[in-house]
Parts: sequence; structure tokens; C-alpha cells
Amino acid sequence: MRASEIRALFAVASRPEVVSLAGGMPYVQALPVEMLTDTVERLLRERGPVALQYGSGQGDVTLREQILDVIGEVGISAHPDDIVVTTGSQMALDLVTRVFCNPGDVVLVESPSYVGALGVFRAYECDVVHVAMDDQGLEPTALREAIAAVRASGRSIKLIYTIPSFHNPAGVTQGPERRREILAIAREAGIALLEDDPYGLLGFEGEPPRAIRADDADGVIYLGSFSKTIASGLRVGWAVAPHGVRDKLVLAAEAAVLCPSNYAQLTVSEYLATQPWREQIKSFREVYRERRDAMLDALDTLMPAGTTWTVPAGGFYSWLTLPEGLDATAMAPRAIANLVAYVPGTGFYVDGQGRRNMRLSYCYPEPDRIREGVRRLAGVIESEIELVHTFGSAGPASPPSGSAVPAPDLA
Ligand code: PMP
Repeated sequence: MRASEIRALFAVASRPEVVSLAGGMPYVQALPVEMLTDTVERLLRERGPVALQYGSGQGDVTLREQILDVIGEVGISAHPDDIVVTTGSQMALDLVTRVFCNPGDVVLVESPSYVGALGVFRAYECDVVHVAMDDQGLEPTALREAIAAVRASGRSIKLIYTIPSFHNPAGVTQGPERRREILAIAREAGIALLEDDPYGLLGFEGEPPRAIRADDADGVIYLGSFSKTIASGLRVGWAVAPHGVRDKLVLAAEAAVLCPSNYAQLTVSEYLATQPWREQIKSFREVYRERRDAMLDALDTLMPAGTTWTVPAGGFYSWLTLPEGLDATAMAPRAIANLVAYVPGTGFYVDGQGRRNMRLSYCYPEPDRIREGVRRLAGVIESEIELVHTFGSAGPASPPSGSAVPAPDLA
């Protein structure tokens, strides 16, 4: 295990004078606090002894039934018995990996991929192999080639891990045809597809994308979460899995935590039963769309030539590529010295790629702060370009000695 670059950045990025385009924290302030207070109060008054007790390892059955309504929004029809409630979808990633992978087994992931999943795969000593993406996400030809190459090397591929909707960190989305192709390749190769979908209901245009799992109940394990649609602090997520896998996930969950928190599950359940949750998700979408627009406008207006970025149709992130010769990892301390933070692209790879990239999040700061953050970032990039033109490189990873702002701890 090793500390992610995001973890190291959080310490400095959370200072109030820094505009953080780094973390992926949902804007939970958009939830009406009185409504949640009522929900929790009613829960404790009316069902306190259940909420405060141990529960089932698979998760509360009423909540599992309610999750069916939520996944119905992305086209999945399932049975409550297909669902395992977890402590955030992060725990589901851990359980699936524990059940499927022995040390040395290969997991195919996108290029780049979610830092928290890479951490899990590494912790179980999986061999992580990145597969190229394009503006439609995971690239089918590259996927076929990666499967052939890994198998030719005699290694066993246990999972294809994909985030098809509003990708973290790439900000791209697989269209319907692309999803069909990816599913067909996984099926033909006989490899389980691990579909991670925490952002699926946070699209800015039209209907939510149809989940890959909606078209294959046997070969796909689908992960969902209430972190982005209700509140990340509740730590309630879920896996939808074929029965044989489901049984193993429950055993693994019991070994890890006995059962997910009844208190958190029943809070979510009460909220879903009594509050207009679809309306609330709609208002989250409006918040994030406004912030996405603020970021894209500012990038369009302010970024120096040669800088490019993805245009997300939902979710929290855009993936930025710096002009040739620049290095986002080396530049990070200078950005923080100029009071703006981002996550360097290298955090989203296991193999050192991503030096010219960064992830920018627009989910948390207010639109004016996002504009100010992009203005500061554009200034830093411009100075770097000048240094590269003058000296052939932008210099060391820390500010020059004597700088008024101390070098932040990025260890
Ligand atoms: N998958 C992806 C792609 C994510 O972005 C996140 C959160 N950043 C998670 C899983 C984990 O979310 P949680 O555990 O809060 O459900």
C-alpha cells in the first residue's frame, strides 16, 4: 500500500486561501439540513432499537428493495437478493477484489483510472494493466489487444474494471454502441466486467446513460453509491452481483465488518421513503452543471494555447493535458504556492504515466472560486511555458529557496 497523491494534497488544499480543484467532495451543502434532521429524528424516535442494533451482512432488506428503484433509473432490473449493501462503493471494490483476485492476477483498468480502485487492486497485489481510452471511454481495439497480450504472457485476467459514465478522472462517457462493444469483448473473453457507476444519475443532458449491467445479469458486477446523490458521509453503497458472486461477497463483508451500519442504512431508507429524492438529485445536477459551465468558460477564456481538456457531460471532473514539455507533478507545488490545487495525472496510473495531465474537479467550490482557481492555474501554466522556452525545462519540483511561500508537504 502507498499514500495516494490526493491524500497528500488534501492537507494543503484544504487551507481556506487555496482554491481546491483537487478533491472530489460532493457539495452536500445543497441538501436541505432541516429535512435530514427530521429524517434522523423520526428514525431514532420510531425505529431506534433497530437502527442502533447489528443487522444483516447483506444489508437491510427494505433498503435493498428501494435500491431497485434507484438502479431502475439506469435500466437495471434485479431482485433484492442480488444486492449487497456496502460501506460506500469503495468497500464493494475491496470485496470484489478480495473474492476474485490472487496475487499476480491481472486486472484491466482504464488509462487513467480511479485512484481508489488502483489502491485496492495494488493492496491485493494484482497486476494492474492500463488500457487506452478515447473520447468515448475504454477503447475496444486496445481492450482486445490487451487481453490477447496478457494471455499470451501466461497470466490470468480476473476483472475488467470500467467507469462508463462521467469517468473519474477522465470526464468522458461511453455511448450505447461503445458499451455494447465492451460487453461483447468481455463476454467473448469470459472475463467479469466490474462496472463502477457512482455518477450515473448526475448527467447534465437527457436521460441517465443505460448501465452495461442492464444488458447482462451474469457477466457484470455493478457498483452503485449514495455518496454523490445523497451524502458521502453516510457511507452507503452497494454491489449488484450474480448469485454465486453475491454469496461470496456477503461472506467477505461479514469477515470485514459483520454488517454495514444499520443506522446509516436506515437513514438512507427513511430518506428515500419520505423525501422527494429524484427532485433532490435534479437539484444536485443543476448545481454541478453550473459549476461545470463556470470551469469550461474559464478554461476557454484563460488557458494558454496548447492546453486541452475534456468536456464532461456529467459528474465532477475534467481531465486536462498540458502543453508539451510541462510536467503537472513538478508544477503542483508551484500551483499551491499560487493558491490553487489540482491532482497530478500520475496518481491515476500505476506506471508513471500522466505527467502532462491533471484532474480538475468542479464539484465543490462556488462558481466564482472556480473561475478564480482557473485564472491562477492559467497564470502558473503560462510561467511554466516561459521557463521551458527559456531554460528547456520548468525547473525543480519545489519553489526556489527564499520563496515567500513555504514548499507544501507533498510527500
Ligand atoms: N468509484 C469511483 C469512480 C469514485 O469516484 C468513488 C468516490 N470518489 C468511489 C468509487 C467510492 O465512492 P464511495 O465509497 O463514497 O461510494
